[in-house]
Amino acid sequence: MKYALVSDVHANLEALCAVFARIDADREVLCLGDIVGYGPDPNDCVALVRERAHATVLGNHDVAAIDGFGLADFNDAARDAVLWTQRVITPEHVAWLDGLPYELRRSEFLLVHGAPRDYFRYVLDVADARDAFAATEAPLIFIGHTHVPDYYALAPDGRVGHAYRQRGGELELEPGFRYLVNVGSVGQPRDLNPDASYVLYDADLRRVRWARVPYDVGAVQRKIEAAGLPELCSRRLALGR
Ligand code: ZN
Repeated sequence: MKYALVSDVHANLEALCAVFARIDADREVLCLGDIVGYGPDPNDCVALVRERAHATVLGNHDVAAIDGFGLADFNDAARDAVLWTQRVITPEHVAWLDGLPYELRRSEFLLVHGAPRDYFRYVLDVADARDAFAATEAPLIFIGHTHVPDYYALAPDGRVGHAYRQRGGELELEPGFRYLVNVGSVGQPRDLNPDASYVLYDADLRRVRWARVPYDVGAVQRKIEAAGLPELCSRRLALGR
């Protein structure tokens, strides 16, 4: 089975189209949440994910857009963008988001937005990764949320390794190891690489591959400005942070 995993689209239609254009039709597309927030095209992005993704889990920005849950924890720009999103998103798309699960389990992997069980926790270091491994039996866990593509590997002897994948790259899954794989962000990368990030997973070959795709950042910035969204949402796109 071949999969493509996308996360943290954040209403960036240009980035999402660039990523989907690179994904072969025979791959099962899975979305790890945060389709909306920050960006100017929440409706088009929800529609496109609904069309292409076989399954999607909820992100914290999706939940906030549905009913304001968690907004108190958001910074000013993120909150203003969610409030803007609530004004423009269609009731039908809100209802669809509201029906999404917090996790998706398959026999060989688990999908969550941030971390297993504590769905919106940020996995930022080895200690966080250990907690994530302890919270589930899943041998392979796919996450997003931090907008930084990387992975943690739990060895049979209990040691945890970590590596970034900011320029793309591969990972061969070794027998006996468990893995926490962050697919990075399609529409709002924060690893100093402005290109859209996504992951291809080949279950038969046991191989994970991170890919990056350039897109028209300027076009998105002009839409953000025209929509009156916070300037920070635009500026950080060009920097990838
Ligand atoms: Zn996000």
